[in-house]
Amino acid sequence: MASIRLENIVKRYGTFTGVKHMSLEIADEEFLVLLGPSGCGKTTTMRMIAGLEDPTEGEVIIADEVVNEIDARDRDVAMVFQGYALYPNMTIYENIRFPLRMRGVAKGDQDALIRRAAEMVELGDYLERKPGALSGGQRQRAALARAVVRQPQVFLMDEPLSNLDAKLRASMRVQIKHMQRQLRVTTVYVTHDQIEAMTLADRIVIMNRGEIQQVGTPDDIYGDPANTFVAGFIGSPPMNLIMGEARDGRFTAEGVSCACPQALAGPVTLGIRPEDCTVGGQELTGTAYGVEPTGDVTYLTVDTGTRQIEVKAARDFRAAIDSPITIGFDPERLYFFDANGNRIRDLT
Ligand code: ATP
Repeated sequence: MASIRLENIVKRYGTFTGVKHMSLEIADEEFLVLLGPSGCGKTTTMRMIAGLEDPTEGEVIIADEVVNEIDARDRDVAMVFQGYALYPNMTIYENIRFPLRMRGVAKGDQDALIRRAAEMVELGDYLERKPGALSGGQRQRAALARAVVRQPQVFLMDEPLSNLDAKLRASMRVQIKHMQRQLRVTTVYVTHDQIEAMTLADRIVIMNRGEIQQVGTPDDIYGDPANTFVAGFIGSPPMNLIMGEARDGRFTAEGVSCACPQALAGPVTLGIRPEDCTVGGQELTGTAYGVEPTGDVTYLTVDTGTRQIEVKAARDFRAAIDSPITIGFDPERLYFFDANGNRIRDLT
């Protein structure tokens, strides 16, 4: 078990900087998720923790030891990637045993460890099969079992579920979280999927262009976003961001007019989540551009003429396309951002 610390990590590729002065503390036993769009530096950060990539500047510290000069294989981290990378000619049992053999675990101890790891991912009945005779989800679970079998100090997982279909992803998510809680191994998990991040993480690190945008619990990140990037990345659909003008306690934009704090003045961006909008209110007028029933909720897209606003409406809400619609905003759930996209806080 181990804490991890990144001290002012930089990764440059020639003139391009992939990771910019990143500092982060990951607590022992924590499940930390690195979340961000493609190319934001998530994988590079993880590879520096693993020892597969050398930082250009800064220090990687695992269990209070600077590991910059320590080889990947001596860092006691186990990795799971999106490709399962199982050995096709070995049975699942032999695949799971492989890291135990590499680490010289005594033969007599191996069987119990292998069976425990396989049970943990519900593969106990599949140990004699070869990977080719398993489904994608079973193969991914076998790869997980192989990573957990030797109880490393740290798990590193890079989009381990991205090859799976939506249903399997959801069940694997639960399994990974359960397993991490049982094993209590510090885990760093990379994804661009905000649902995965929200459901798995103790804390989420949101990255963009090689920089940390915000670090916080899923509740912090959802309820208290630091800037428009975070606000627009989290939520499904994400927060509506409406550029407009604040004056004398009112925010206005085309089709939008709502009360705002008196202290606000000039160009600002209003943020409102689709779930905090209600059909039939006073704050926004437009037409129904899209109506998408999903069973438990109906997604309504309202067109104001210059922008589209997403609304989570009741499950039985229906409207004809292009019919007029009015929307209300929950006044307690409005967010305001300045011209640089940073949250404006402490307004009265
Ligand atoms: P994805 O979700 O697409 O995997 P990511 O957030 O994991 O993205 P990284 O793989 O960490 O992104 O890459 C960060 C940036 O560094 C990208 O812009 C990428 O093009 C660049 N990069 C990564 N490896 C190299 C390399 N070997 N040489 C040059 N640039 C690189």
